[in-house]
Parts: sequence; C-alpha cells; structure tokens
Amino acid sequence: MIAFFPEIYPDELLYSQIARYHSRSGYARYTYTSSDIYNNEKLVHPSIEFVNRYTADAMEWISKDKPWEEVTAEHTMYPAYIRFLPKQRRVDAVNGILTCEGNWKNLMCLPLQKEKRYIRYCPICAKEDRKIYGETYWHRDHQIPRINVCPKHRCYLENSIIENSSKTSPGLYDAEGYVPQESEPCICQNERKLAFTEYVINVFHHPIDLCNTLSIGKFLHSHLSKGYLNESGLVRNISKLYKDYLAFYGNEIPTMPQSYMQKIFNGYIYDNYFVLQLAYFEDVTVQEITNLSDTVPLFGIDSLYKELSDKYNIDFCIVKEIGDTALKHSYNQNRVAKKSGVREALYNELDEKYLSQVKDIVEEIVNKQGRPEKLSLSKVTKALNLPQKQINKLPKCKAYIEQYIETQPQFWARQVEWAYKEMQNNDNPINLTRIMKLTNMRLKDIRCCSSYIKNEKVKLIIDELLFCKVY
Ligand SMILES: [Zn+2]
Repeated sequence: MIAFFPEIYPDELLYSQIARYHSRSGYARYTYTSSDIYNNEKLVHPSIEFVNRYTADAMEWISKDKPWEEVTAEHTMYPAYIRFLPKQRRVDAVNGILTCEGNWKNLMCLPLQKEKRYIRYCPICAKEDRKIYGETYWHRDHQIPRINVCPKHRCYLENSIIENSSKTSPGLYDAEGYVPQESEPCICQNERKLAFTEYVINVFHHPIDLCNTLSIGKFLHSHLSKGYLNESGLVRNISKLYKDYLAFYGNEIPTMPQSYMQKIFNGYIYDNYFVLQLAYFEDVTVQEITNLSDTVPLFGIDSLYKELSDKYNIDFCIVKEIGDTALKHSYNQNRVAKKSGVREALYNELDEKYLSQVKDIVEEIVNKQGRPEKLSLSKVTKALNLPQKQINKLPKCKAYIEQYIETQPQFWARQVEWAYKEMQNNDNPINLTRIMKLTNMRLKDIRCCSSYIKNEKVKLIIDELLFCKVY
C-alpha cells in the first residue's frame, strides 16, 4: 500500500519520480518498492526512458494530477523516438506505450547501443533545482540521444554513474543521491551546436501528430532548395547536399553517413536526431516540422496516385494503399519465382519440423490460465529460439500463428472478460474503475472493445456500465 507519492517536477522522467519515492519510502531494499510499484511477480527492471506495468495503486498515484496519456507524453522519452515513423507504426507505438502491451520498443527508432549510455545531468540545472525544490531530479531534456549540452546554461551535460541499460541490476537511483553537490560546468562555445540543440528540444516538447500521413522523407525533399535538385525536382544532387551538410555542422557535431541521408529521403530511416539535422539545415521551422503540411508537391509514383485520385474522385490514401500493395505483391511474386534450390528445400524441411512445436506454443499462449497474453509472431519466434525474421521463411508456421493473432480491440475484449471473472471470483462489485485498474486499460479502450466481447452476459453488463457512464 502506497501511503504517499512525491509530485512530479517539470520535465522530470517518470523513472525519476519513482526513484524519489523509493528513496523516501524508507525501504531498506529495492524489492519492497518493486512490489509496491510494479505489476509483476518477478523483480522488475525499471525502465529509465519508458514505462513498466504498474500496480493499480501506483497507477492511481502516478496519474493523480494528469491523465496517463499526458504522463507518458510529458515524462517519458518516447516523443524522441517515434515522431517521424510512418503513421500506423507511430500510432501502434503510442498505443503500445499507453497499454504497456505489445512489442512497442521494436516499433520505435532507438539508437544502436554501440556505446554505453548513462543518465545525464546539467550541473547548473541541478544547482537551480536544489535551490527551488530542495533536491534535484533526472530531466528528460538531458537524455535525448546525441544531445550533450544544456542550451539553457550553455554548458555540457555530465554522465552520472547510472547506466541506461537493461543489463545492469534492477534498481531505482534518484538524482539527488547521484548528482554531485559541486561540479564545475564546462561551457560550450559552439553556437551552431547550441542553436541546433535548442531546436531539437523545442521539437521534443511539441505533441506528436498522430494523424499525419505524409512521409518525412517526402517532406524533407519538398523543402530542399532548388540548387540541390535537377530541373524536374525529382532527382537530388546528394553529393553536393552532403558536402554542404557536413560543412554546416562541422566536426564537433555528430553527423550521419551519406547513405543514411539518402535513406531518410527515401523513407527507410526515421532517426529523430538526423531527420532534425536535415530539417534545421533546410531552415524548416519548429512549427512546420511538428505540423507537417499535407500540401507538399508530390513526386514520382505519388503524383500518379494523385492524378488517379482526382480522376476517379477517390481518397488519395486509398489509391496509394492499393497501388503500393499491388506493387509489393508483384515484387514478391517475382522473388518467389526466383527462389529455388537447396536453400528453399532446407526451409521447407524446417517449416515442417517446427510446425508441431509452433502449434504447442500458440496453444499455450492463447489458452493460458489467468491474465490473457497477446500472441505475436515475435513471441513464438523467441520461444522457438529462432532468429527474428526467419519465421517469414516458414510459410506454414507463419500462417498457423497468424490465424490466432488478435487485433488490439479483440485482445482488450479478452482482458475485460478475464477481469470480469476475477471480480466475480473475489466477490468484488463489477464496475469500470475496477476493470481499468485490473487491466491497465483506459475507459476509451473498454468502449472501443465492447463489441468484441464474446460472452453475451459480460457484454451486456459492460454495455450497461458504459451507457450509465454517458448519461
Ligand atoms: Zn542546465
């Protein structure tokens, strides 16, 4: 039972707030705090940048002053990783974070862990925090990948000794205990670095647009000045552009390789930092990059889609989806035709070999007793100890798994049915608040999934409860 919980500070990491709770709780060991806060029988590894599954009690405290959506958007690092993803992937990642379900981490554009990352702090911010609040805390702004200065104080950020890695032993480390009381700030003299950092942080603080369908590569292409394009506007002079880009940022700022830049324009890479480097280089304002206009000129196949969309008066997105699906299908057909020989025979053999194991694993996940679990391709691949993408080469196994994969509302519906049974077994009164606590779902999730509830009696009761909530 949590008797008190510290209030969250501006731009504080949710992890930091929980770490402050831990240090004030008086618990001698992390295990005690863990069972207060985290909804898991095993010892939980607290996520520094994102979220974990929390107990109903902790959830109530965490979302006491602002709704869960705002807590995650304003106190976790996800806005630094998903802003430029394609629309559906962006929406799925946010839903994953909000429900703490699914493989949302794989959907994000996380930096490759080549070097160890530590929680960082600004020595002057820490001093100010201590003056204002009597303690310091871990700031979100200081954890954005590749950002290493505090534009407010024009000084370099310092690494703490707390490593940001899932490999370290689980624990909660509050900033007050780990940021030195006195630390000499090292001033940054690079004006471009300071200005660009300010730009990145400003963008970071803007809400994520979940509706925009325009690819970031196309947006950046449309903002290129004429000197980097051929006459038709279709072809980029990437060598010239890359040379100017390197000169613009200089040696002190991390830059991307030329191939990476090409991939951003072509819509294969969505790295927040490098996308913003291009946008800043192109003089795109914070306002423009956070609210992508959907009126940018279209090129290549997209202009053909636009023509067809106007000609037949059909929504552009529908024409594009049909066109892209047809192209992909024809491409895959050609690839299948090309595949033959020993490798294919080997995969066919593996497909047969794994099928019965796949059936057992699916059965175990789908019919699991207790809280429902969501089936996914990656979960089965992991259980089989196979490399992640190999399942794509095993058509029978893949098809078998896919027939049991649920949509998010279908899965929620199963959770609601489970929560209902739990309440009944424990003689608890049935109400929506209790369902939300048990499942970590929001009211709008329950509303969205009610039509998928299979048990007629449960469906009737949930519909009635939802109806009463409206009137
Ligand atoms: Zn600072």
